[in-house]
Amino acid sequence: MPRHISTVLDIDKESDKWTVLIQVVERNHIQYTRKAPPRRIQRFMLTDAQGTKVSAAAYENCIRLFRNLLVPYQRYYISGATIINAVPTYKVSEYPYSWVLHYSTLIERYLEPIPPMLPCPFTFDNFSDAHKHAESDITLISVKALVIYAFPQKETTPDSVTRDFLIVNEEKKLMLLTLWNEFQEYEGNILANTIATAPMIFAMRVKVSTFNSLSLTTIGLSCILINPPVHDELPLREWYSIHKDEVKILLEAKAYKDPEFLLPPPNQEHIKTIHDALISFGTQKTAWIGGTVQLSFGQTRFWYTACSNCLKTVEADTDWIIKCSSCRQEAEVELRCRIGITVTDPTASIQCLISGKEAERLIQLTAAQLKDAEAHGITMNQELSAIMKKYRLICFIKTYETTFQGQLQRRNAIIKAYPTAEVPNISLALLDSPPTLQASETGTTSNTKQKQVIEQQTFTPTAKLLLQEIAESTATKKSFITKSTTAATTSHKLLEDTATSASPNTTPIDETAASPTKKPKQEGKGN
Ligand SMILES: [Zn+2]
Repeated sequence: MPRHISTVLDIDKESDKWTVLIQVVERNHIQYTRKAPPRRIQRFMLTDAQGTKVSAAAYENCIRLFRNLLVPYQRYYISGATIINAVPTYKVSEYPYSWVLHYSTLIERYLEPIPPMLPCPFTFDNFSDAHKHAESDITLISVKALVIYAFPQKETTPDSVTRDFLIVNEEKKLMLLTLWNEFQEYEGNILANTIATAPMIFAMRVKVSTFNSLSLTTIGLSCILINPPVHDELPLREWYSIHKDEVKILLEAKAYKDPEFLLPPPNQEHIKTIHDALISFGTQKTAWIGGTVQLSFGQTRFWYTACSNCLKTVEADTDWIIKCSSCRQEAEVELRCRIGITVTDPTASIQCLISGKEAERLIQLTAAQLKDAEAHGITMNQELSAIMKKYRLICFIKTYETTFQGQLQRRNAIIKAYPTAEVPNISLALLDSPPTLQASETGTTSNTKQKQVIEQQTFTPTAKLLLQEIAESTATKKSFITKSTTAATTSHKLLEDTATSASPNTTPIDETAASPTKKPKQEGKGN
């Protein structure tokens, strides 16, 4: 009697002597289970001809048994796997079970010259929604894209390699995808060798990182499908052949690391209150927030020197070429602005660092100018305080931990900031500080008048003029200090007010903050 071939949905814990014809969708890299003692595990995602997906796993020595089997997109007969309840995290379809492949599981290659198209459905995220999941501990995203550029492989630590690729889809957004270790060694090499053909990938369960403002990175649970046989490949390819030149321009403009391009102004619904953001930092390390701005108290320096590659603070001169101990790249030393500000909305305050071009754009001064001012013994606090007070900002912030003087400290970095005037359709009422704070800021000024003042987010030319004058005459120093005395008294009072109202989660600003854009550590472990 010929064997009966079942479908995935036919098979449950009671099934006996069964066979299902499956097609391999995903073959993951070997990981370790999280439960102690850690065991080696290899996961697969399979589908039957009906498109019902099922996850399967092999453990320890059994992994070796299936080494040459279950190749992506090929079909196999599987008989006699152990049926277990699917863990909700790994449930991949309406099918409630998953399969464990063991010594007596029979896997037979289905002989055919070319396997059919994958019959199962896929769900993808838009690049433009990636910011919603940035640095989340609980959500990963899956994207369909063409790979159009391969950067050279990098050795980040002696036992860890990465390689960055540029991917694009019909949204015409260029994003960086970082492949780590085994992903680079296997999929990365295939992609690099076929890059001229712009291979299509399904990057499944990748993490959204704030490396280079916003990028994607593999973690242990990820899987990269290269040129999967699917019916709807053509529209993306046609789109690319039409828009190839525009994509090339974006590539040359390095749009893949431009926060303006990657993090455009958000919609109102994506902006959290600072109170909610502080709570959500428990599971997601980024948020869009908005509020009034003040210069944080107690800063003595507004610039730092950084590795031009990873932006990590380095004690080096700007004409040095260094081998960075953080990113291990040979790099120039860059002079960058770094300013501590306090953002306040009606629910809470948060201290943040704003650096580099984002800071320079707000203050309309360069890091070199700030360094010059310091070299001439001019304190810029009053001037910067006056500038910052003009702003209400919508900012994309990241919270991170850093060790300072042996102590673990929490810091918040602004990755992208928009003055409210640049963000359409934002309800400014949601950003205004509570009445008590407004009173302390403006004295007897009415709310309406205060709003008008704040909305004039034009830059006072004083600081710029001042720095021009520095170059010409040292006499400027005296006049500046006299000029700013009144402002200094006001801003000092203000910053004290803010310190009192600041959330206990915030920490004082100092000048040794690590780069906010450091790469995440590769998570090598599965469930
Ligand atoms: Zn570096």
